[in-house]
Amino acid sequence: MHFDILTIFPEFFGALPDQGILGHGVVSRALRSGLASIQIHDLRCFTHDRHRSVDDRPFGGGEGMVLKPQPIYEALSSLKLLPRPQRPAGAESVILLSAQGKRFNQSTARRLATLHRAVLLCGRYEGVDERVVDLLCDEELSIGDYVLSGGELAAAVLLDASVRLLPGALGHADSSRYESFGEGEADFGEAPLAAAANAAFFPVGSEPSPSVPRSTHASSGILDYPHYTRPAEFLGLSVPEVLSSGDHLAIRRWRRQAALAKTLANRPDLLQTADLSEDDRQYLAGLGYTPAA
Ligand code: SAM
Repeated sequence: MHFDILTIFPEFFGALPDQGILGHGVVSRALRSGLASIQIHDLRCFTHDRHRSVDDRPFGGGEGMVLKPQPIYEALSSLKLLPRPQRPAGAESVILLSAQGKRFNQSTARRLATLHRAVLLCGRYEGVDERVVDLLCDEELSIGDYVLSGGELAAAVLLDASVRLLPGALGHADSSRYESFGEGEADFGEAPLAAAANAAFFPVGSEPSPSVPRSTHASSGILDYPHYTRPAEFLGLSVPEVLSSGDHLAIRRWRRQAALAKTLANRPDLLQTADLSEDDRQYLAGLGYTPAA
């Protein structure tokens, strides 16, 4: 997958693939292995005046400056991207990062990870001339209900969240399925890969009953379960005993319930659309959760 980032602050992204905000961990590895590529484009290179002006005063008056459409149009033209009506829909998307955009989430990241190319346009100042939205962009995305001073951080967020979902980017294919907001099903029995994992945990004849939540992970649209590592006791607080019990079934059950409890505490909205088993529902009811009618 290829990313083009259009910005007036190209230095923000540092020297890729080893330095800067995207030069670490999964993204850096994906860049070095050729799974993903990124090109940063300085919008000032597409200006024609002495001051290399990318912005101008707003029509109608008011605070601040607005990014002009012409340099953006020329930058997109240099990438062989036609204005929207003439551009074939499909494997690429021109995305404006904007507080006024649709909310970016994990399912948007999954969709972006299927694209061949994403062009990320970073706004600054009061924003971007609206004709850029009307004529040049396919979508306008916001990373949350707050206002950043520029689109660069938001572009980095989109890129990171999408790249780690590219097949081969993570060490294990299941890592991105069984995590917060993951699409992995709660019951291992339904996925061939997961069934193999299940078999490794449960010798023949000792498989858990289908009514027991068998995933070691959260998945199915809820938050991840809490994780612990050494030491077993930290500042007087011990790791839940079950995690050292060696009883894999009990561990799975505990993790599922801990993930449900955490989701209820922090993101009860997710429970409306999560894929919940009867056991899950009963457990949540015991915690006082009543689903909205
Ligand atoms: N006047 C705009 C408004 O009230 O919606 C805010 C402009 S902001 C100061 C400058 C730029 O930061 C935007 O053009 C956009 O590219 C980026 N930005 C700010 N908040 C963002 C968010 N929540 N998600 C994505 N991009 C954001």
